[in-house]
Amino acid sequence: MSYQDTQLLISNQWRQAANGKTLPVINPANGQEIGRVAYAEKPDFDAAIAAAEQGFEIWRNTPAVERQKVMRSAAQLLSERVDAIAVLMTLENGKPLAESKAEVIGAVDTLNFFADEGRRVYGRIVHPRAMNVQMQVLKQPVGVVAAFTPWNFPINQIIRKMGAALATGCAIIVKAPEETPASPAALLKCFVDAGIPAGVVGLLYGIPSEISSYLISHPVIRKISFTGSTAVGKMLAAMAGQHMKRITMELGGHSPVIVCDDANIDLAVKASAGAKFRNAGQVCISPTRFLVHNSIKDEFIRKFVAFTGKIKLGDGLTEGTTMGPLANTRRLDAMHKIMTDIRAKGGKVEVGGERIGEVGNFFAPTVISDVPLDASLFNDEPFGPIAGIRGFDRLDEAIAEANRLPYGLASYAFTSSLKHQHMLAQNIQAGMLWINQPAVAVAEMPFGGVKDSGFGSEGGPEALEAYLNTKSVSTVMV
Ligand code: NAD
Repeated sequence: MSYQDTQLLISNQWRQAANGKTLPVINPANGQEIGRVAYAEKPDFDAAIAAAEQGFEIWRNTPAVERQKVMRSAAQLLSERVDAIAVLMTLENGKPLAESKAEVIGAVDTLNFFADEGRRVYGRIVHPRAMNVQMQVLKQPVGVVAAFTPWNFPINQIIRKMGAALATGCAIIVKAPEETPASPAALLKCFVDAGIPAGVVGLLYGIPSEISSYLISHPVIRKISFTGSTAVGKMLAAMAGQHMKRITMELGGHSPVIVCDDANIDLAVKASAGAKFRNAGQVCISPTRFLVHNSIKDEFIRKFVAFTGKIKLGDGLTEGTTMGPLANTRRLDAMHKIMTDIRAKGGKVEVGGERIGEVGNFFAPTVISDVPLDASLFNDEPFGPIAGIRGFDRLDEAIAEANRLPYGLASYAFTSSLKHQHMLAQNIQAGMLWINQPAVAVAEMPFGGVKDSGFGSEGGPEALEAYLNTKSVSTVMV
């Protein structure tokens, strides 16, 4: 399987870092180095910023309908390259090939949504206080955007930012994940091949903190968009605040799943267990705290464990694999820490709990019941294939537990009662709530968190608003 080294993209040119340095890329299924990625430093940052400044001047003066054409062409190219890009993604991230394909196909849909939505960015004409005055509200692109994206969804995390930025007329420099660099580069190549003007999109790799501290403080950069951990997000948001830059922050979560006594248990197990082990649990909206009504808890656990037994752990490129390795060894260490803590505090290991094999980052799909409230599993984002389950008696208790943590990203519930649905929708502190279904994060719906889970939205028309300045223009006709 061919996996090429990844270069930087500056002014529509693919190039090595000026210093010639590179970083290794590891296949998480076998621990082998599969390629190298360029390691950018200051001369590359300056070149990328200068290119983006020029690109922005061109792109902001390009009619929305022309921008739509370029974005739709890029989406078409992406759809033609799904199979090849999915292989790169599985090689560098580990997820099953079917999940990689689904991610790329999803990105095509997201890009088309944003391409079209860019034509619907409207200002306002306000009724004036004197009839010889014209009062207009203009919506204008914020400028050059710096986007920082993680390795768990190498393409999806970028397209949500690029789609909205490009639709509104911004230029964007993406600092993509060094651990999964080739699939993002293949995404950006679609834009270059679709004829996007030079400088409108740029791609950097290197040491994340070196790139973010330089870009965020640079006067040309007007907006920061970050997806990653809450700890890093707070740091970058603080830095952006010092320089008065706009931000969008998509951060960590610890999603509750409330299964009411009137739920369809089979549906609840299929939907929530499927979502739990997708991408080996390395998903910001992954279900993590299962709160199950005590009257159905034993049946739920039994069926959940049976579902887990059918998961086929293996190399994502192997036919039939339904869960791949963890994307990096840090996640393996994190799973061991969670298990050591749970064993010390007394949760019951229903299944799993161990690394599988000595080669690759494979960790068994794991279910823990009777999780003590002070266990790490119920407090720190697991970001891995460990599900924790607890019982409850009253829905208001479950909602209080769901809201206990500082996170507020995704939440899930299973119920057939309209009254419960209403109570959940009104009281859950989260940016997103899915009822009787797994997460279906479609482009036309807002996507984002509250509390420590972030700020702003990456879906729906709200996503575009985050890349727009509002200008008030009043003219007296003389
Ligand atoms: P991490 O906190 O070191 O990094 C998370 C992401 O932030 C990575 O993509 C990394 O490149 C980037 N990053 C780190 N420091 C940065 C900096 N100074 N400037 C710019 N970018 C920076 O942790 P990790 O080991 O890569 O991931 C573990 C944790 O990150 C997980 O537990 C999870 O909470 C979070 N995470 C969240 C998402 C998400 O989709 N929200 C994705 C990946 C990781």
